[in-house]
Amino acid sequence: MSTRRTYALDPTAEASTRDCLDPWFFALLDSRRNLQPCCWRPPIGRLEPGQPLDALLDGPEMRALRRRLLDGDLDAHCAQCPNRALTTPANLRRRVRHELAAEHARLAAGQDEAATPNCHLRA
Ligand code: SF4
Repeated sequence: MSTRRTYALDPTAEASTRDCLDPWFFALLDSRRNLQPCCWRPPIGRLEPGQPLDALLDGPEMRALRRRLLDGDLDAHCAQCPNRALTTPANLRRRVRHELAAEHARLAAGQDEAATPNCHLRA
């Protein structure tokens, strides 16, 4: 029996994506204004002074990353990710839809004053 955990395995034809919501719900902005979509990838861009954060969060690099996860077309970083388990694109899409609906419900109920109505869930 293998002792390797699923997140350390290589993607397969069926389990071709990662069970990862970070590019939708997480961002790391360092003191030099570099924005990472997760802890494992290099920055996707640098926030210029006066530039809205949405410019990066909804920019072409982030959208392409989300699309590749949804399609199971992983780049090298996600294909070798040590932190997220493998799953099918259909399962990831279901999870993204579920989390988006839950986020909108929270916002509609006024339960998250810090959240923006512009959920970064576009791909
Ligand atoms: S490298 Fe891993 S944690 Fe980062 S976006 Fe890809 S699957 Fe998610």
